[in-house]
Amino acid sequence: MPARDNFHSVMRIGPVQIGTHRDRNGQTKHAAVCSSDGCGWSADYTSQTAAQLAARTHRCRVR
Ligand SMILES: [Zn+2]
Repeated sequence: MPARDNFHSVMRIGPVQIGTHRDRNGQTKHAAVCSSDGCGWSADYTSQTAAQLAARTHRCRVR
């Protein structure tokens, strides 16, 4: 899991954790972070809905 400042996990969908963190401008971002070993996928979204959708459709690169 990549280091993120002030990352707060709020829910989990499969291997993906959804959480919020603040970017350098102080704005809250919704991050989806895959916790599977060898995957390492993560992305930031402006809404939790978008992050949840990405988590549901995420396919790990490593099986
Ligand atoms: Zn993954």
